[in-house]
Amino acid sequence: MPAIPRPGSLKDPEIAELFGKEDPEKIFEDLREIGHGSFGAVYYARDNVSKEIVAIKKMSYMGKQSIEKWQDILKEIRFLRQLNHPNTVEYKGCYLRDNTAWLVMEYCLGSASDIIEVHKRPLREEEISAICEGVLRGLNYLHSLGRIHRDIKAGNILLTENGTVKLADFGSASIKCPANSFVGTPYWMAPEVILAMDEGQYDGKVDVWSLGITCIELAERKPPYFNMNAMSALYHIAQNDTPTLSAPEWTDIFKHFVQSCLQKNPSDRPTAHKLLSHSLVTRARSPHVLIDLIQRTKTAVRELDNQNYRKMKILMIDSCESESTAGDNDDETPDEQAGGDSSKSNSITSEHSIHSIGVSASSQSSSTNSLPPVTDMNHDNSSYAQSLRPRQKASSSAALIEHGANNFATIKTTTIVTKQQKEHMQEEMHEQMSGYKRMRREHQGALIKLEEKCKVEMDNHKQLLDKEYEALLQKFSKELEELQIKHQQELDRKLKQNAAAEKKLHKEISTRQEADRKAFDCQKKKEYKANKERWKQELSMDESTPKRLKDAALQTQKENLKQMEAQEEQRLVQGQKEYLELEMRKFRRKKLLAFQLLEQELLKDELNKRQTQLEQAHSILLRHHEKTKELEYRQQKAVHQLREEQVQRQHSTELQNQHAYLQRCKRELRKKHAMEVKQQPKSLKQKEMQIRKQFRETCKIQTRQYKALKAELLSTRPKEEHKIVIKKLKEEQRRKLALLADQYEQSIAEMLQKQSIRLDESQELEGHHLQERLHYELEILMAYQSKNKMQTEAQRNRERKELEDRVTVRRDLLEQKMQQETEQVVQERSERIRLLRERQQREMEQFDDESARMGLSALAIADSTSECYPDDDSLSGSMLSLARP
Ligand code: ADP
Ligand code: MG
Repeated sequence: MPAIPRPGSLKDPEIAELFGKEDPEKIFEDLREIGHGSFGAVYYARDNVSKEIVAIKKMSYMGKQSIEKWQDILKEIRFLRQLNHPNTVEYKGCYLRDNTAWLVMEYCLGSASDIIEVHKRPLREEEISAICEGVLRGLNYLHSLGRIHRDIKAGNILLTENGTVKLADFGSASIKCPANSFVGTPYWMAPEVILAMDEGQYDGKVDVWSLGITCIELAERKPPYFNMNAMSALYHIAQNDTPTLSAPEWTDIFKHFVQSCLQKNPSDRPTAHKLLSHSLVTRARSPHVLIDLIQRTKTAVRELDNQNYRKMKILMIDSCESESTAGDNDDETPDEQAGGDSSKSNSITSEHSIHSIGVSASSQSSSTNSLPPVTDMNHDNSSYAQSLRPRQKASSSAALIEHGANNFATIKTTTIVTKQQKEHMQEEMHEQMSGYKRMRREHQGALIKLEEKCKVEMDNHKQLLDKEYEALLQKFSKELEELQIKHQQELDRKLKQNAAAEKKLHKEISTRQEADRKAFDCQKKKEYKANKERWKQELSMDESTPKRLKDAALQTQKENLKQMEAQEEQRLVQGQKEYLELEMRKFRRKKLLAFQLLEQELLKDELNKRQTQLEQAHSILLRHHEKTKELEYRQQKAVHQLREEQVQRQHSTELQNQHAYLQRCKRELRKKHAMEVKQQPKSLKQKEMQIRKQFRETCKIQTRQYKALKAELLSTRPKEEHKIVIKKLKEEQRRKLALLADQYEQSIAEMLQKQSIRLDESQELEGHHLQERLHYELEILMAYQSKNKMQTEAQRNRERKELEDRVTVRRDLLEQKMQQETEQVVQERSERIRLLRERQQREMEQFDDESARMGLSALAIADSTSECYPDDDSLSGSMLSLARP
């Protein structure tokens, strides 16, 4: 993250590039305040070279939150300088001086809000249509660039001399869409901006909503809920039904337009582009509506100024006439119609005049107190006095020129006192609102940060688990591989052993048979010898047989014997061979059986291994599931806790603000009442003077009448009576005058009494009304808050339930997966067992067939076939039982 630049620093070339290097004080002359906003003042000015008239918005970044202010200033400049459209105010440049940015723009006559303030009545539908068209074109342009104005209201819709509508004040605008922060002016804010905190994001449709509210403002002079404190208004907007145009004078087309703009659900609200083809905009109207409106407004401003002048002049003459002294300069009429009693600053009337002329001590102090921290106070009075004339030309208050600056300024004084009181109140309200907005933005930021942190934590967690599981699976497959190799080796060893044992047995039997054969040979030889001896004896004893015959017989006998021996030996050898074969066969079969058993053992071993591995893997998966669940719950709890805290903090701030507002209203009322009391003697004095004047007039008339009467009487009466008549007349006159004097005193006393009674009563009533209104507002606010609290709580519960459901579903899925895996392993197991069994059976059959072909009785060889093949079910059964968790 790049370091946050120091306010006013031009080190960053991108920032330096935004500002002109010249001293703006040297470029612009005749500066006059024409508007006042959250940052400071907006001035009318003239470029001393090109003589072009411009507007300059001076924005200070000193004091509290200066970093934030500087960022906002940069944002507004960057935003404005990228715009180029007939319906957005034109950017002309920017300068820095005395910790203040001078944003130079094309000059406009004033805002739509100023116009309704001057006329003190709503605009005509045709005029509203024309303004809407301009606003929609401007909005359509902004929205097509993916931007949002976020502060559409009459005060930010300006008009030029030729009647063009210009969107101004991009201090709240968003360069990105969708956006999600709490920005704008409360009464004009769309519900989704107010709810942005919980619900997330909004888009250009918020401007369409604000345009709808602006239509109501232009049609009814104030936006809905304007008599309420902003805190309550926010809740009303978010939670109430949408406001409508009520008066019957408006056409259905206009009502429909407003209703479309004020759809609470943004997706039901048409876009600016779509609204450009609404009948309100497209239907025929005079092309001069706005020019005419401007002309009328200019005339009205002139008339108002003239009126005020005349009023003041009469009073001044009056006060001069009534023998008052120099102190009477501060006599002021509580003027309610000077065009300045609105709670918003009226940029068409001159505001700075108060600074140029001596004002009464009381109003002077109150005006300086109420001034915002950065204003035009650095200008000296003379420059102000000088600057008045061109300023009046600029605002078309030509009448003022005739009367001169001094008179004008004097007239303005009382107006500005009340106006600045209100402005002061606004200043405080503004501070409060910007603090509240900041808090809500901070809340949003903190929440986003926490959510991001949770996401990172969750990603890491999942990665860790995945890694662990992956490693486990790898370990398992390696183990299995090793086991298989070991098994193979065991089988090989067994085969070798078998071969060796077979060989050994073969040798054993062969050796034994050889010995047998030798013994047989020996035996035969012995037998042969014995036979030969026996035959010799038998022959020698037989004397009768000739020797030749004897020899022949002996020979034959020998041969017979040899033949018999040979036969016997052959039989022996044959017998031995068969025996050897049988034994070997038997041995091999036994070994084959044993080998097969071993194979079965090993397969069982391997399958069991796989089974335990699967079980281990599953227990890990379950543990992972539990761990993830734990983390999810923990994270959700943290987010919920933060949100709950934020809602609490928000509510308590709202209540605090509401209480401050309450105190402020009461204070203002007290101040107003004090002022009334203070003004009472003044106004009484005036009334007294009036009565005195009347009295004097009456005296004069009476005197005249008496004179006439005297003349008449004197002319008709004889001279000697004259003295008496004169005396009588004088007495009567004196009596009548005394009566008049009496009446005068009485009427003064009556008036005084009436006045004070009325004041007390009305003040009391006013206080009572205020109290009631504030009480009601506070109650409503609290009701909204508790509703809001319930809603947010319900939302948290809903989310909790959703998470629970999600976890359950995941657990079910996991179990399903584990079940599938288990089933798969079981199936694999029985399959492998089946294959082995079939192969082994085949091997055995082959073996037995071979034996049969060799003529060996299967029965003789196989003595324990039944135990060779364990029951399938017992094998797979035991495996199955293992497979089940
Ligand atoms: P803020 O952000 O304080 O509301 P704005 O930009 O709206 O500041 O300016 C405040 C007032 O100054 C406007 O309501 C308007 O009366 C006046 N103003 C602003 N810009 C111009 C301009 N270009 N020409 C004439 N008056 C302007
Ligand atoms: Mg503004």
